[in-house]
Amino acid sequence: MGFVKGLKCKECDKTYPKKALHVCSFCFGPLEVDYEYEEIKKVISREKIESRQKNMWRYKELLPLDGEPTVGMQVGYTPLIKANNLAKKLGVDELYIKNDSVNFPTFSFKDRVVSAALSKARELGFDTVACATTGNLGNAVASQAVQGNFESYIFMPANLEQGKVIGTSIYGTNVIGIDGNYDGVNRMCSEIADKYGWAFANINIRPYYAEGSKTYGYEIVEQLGWKAPRHIVVPMAGGSLIIKIGKAIKEMAMLGLIDESDTTLYGAQASGSSPISTAVKNGWDHIKPVKPDTIAHSIAIGNPADGYYSIKAINESGGWAEDVSDEELVEGIKLLASTEGIFTETAGGVTVAVTQKLLEQGRIPRDEAIVISITGNGLKTLEAVLDKVEKPCVIKANIEEFNALMEKKEICTA
Ligand SMILES: *Cc1c(COP(=O)(O)O)cnc(C)c1O
Ligand SMILES: [Zn+2]
Repeated sequence: MGFVKGLKCKECDKTYPKKALHVCSFCFGPLEVDYEYEEIKKVISREKIESRQKNMWRYKELLPLDGEPTVGMQVGYTPLIKANNLAKKLGVDELYIKNDSVNFPTFSFKDRVVSAALSKARELGFDTVACATTGNLGNAVASQAVQGNFESYIFMPANLEQGKVIGTSIYGTNVIGIDGNYDGVNRMCSEIADKYGWAFANINIRPYYAEGSKTYGYEIVEQLGWKAPRHIVVPMAGGSLIIKIGKAIKEMAMLGLIDESDTTLYGAQASGSSPISTAVKNGWDHIKPVKPDTIAHSIAIGNPADGYYSIKAINESGGWAEDVSDEELVEGIKLLASTEGIFTETAGGVTVAVTQKLLEQGRIPRDEAIVISITGNGLKTLEAVLDKVEKPCVIKANIEEFNALMEKKEICTA
């Protein structure tokens, strides 16, 4: 069934076979999956996609497998919500939330990339999968490795939130905490991948992994009634998701699934780890690596693998990037929760707060449709809001005490 020709270097166009490769041996450029678009065009249609199950594999012609998926078949097709309350609060006409905080099975958009990566790892004959993670990727690899009967190894900075750590170790995987930040973990994992021959989701099989992110974009387009979003704000860690949303929309236009696309991409980072937004704001075409210092651990990457291409994608779309402080991101989490009833993690708080900032700056117009990308779940990063919400008031279990409370007309803080 597959439409994958092989891998192709993004820089020099040299082609490679469908193997666990990710860098060009000639120019060191990144490799990307190369599809037979002419053949896909002959078989794909809106009706065909709509007739399929509501999961990310309804777009299977545009995903990097030769056969059917074997891991994570239920991932994706998360809600796109018309966010009228938040729209009113932000003073905009038309606002949507793409809500991957309820993705299956581990409540973040990383379930998408892992379904693609592990299904590909199986095709390539691996029996051990691994990753370097800022949190959510580890959760997704550990969970789906169980489902696919893989052995798994997860490498993470030791200072991650409890929800991310327990949300990995609960699956019985091998968890290795590293004393250091993600960039150090990732460097070490490149060496481990070479020596041990495991499939590292975000390293040696990264070209296949990254393609899974496109489904976040396909779904938004389909859920908007086969229309590309006019403006979309996306959180950035390695910078892959924002690139792949842009690519997804372009592919749909090229294949005739939508008319045209004029989507503008906006990147969101935390100020304590903002190599990409800093580059965009300064007009640089390359990032300068930084040492992350933010509570937004899931997007705290100081030397992003796709930094260069994410800057390019943002600029080519006519977009912009911004970053916000830890205090602002907490306000972003609370704003989304109190307007739309959605509890997102720190990365989502960053995205909401950056959207607000870009509106205030006039970078995003208030009278055109905007999509905010919510990519993870707040129950995994409780530490971020622990002291930032009212404590429940505690009374005895009798009606008099409750009546007294109602008369005071104020919520006590215990
Ligand atoms: C990993 C992650 C991102 C960013 O992903 P990249 O593709 O590396 O830019 C955004 N949000 C959350 C919650 C993540 O876990
Ligand atoms: Zn090359």
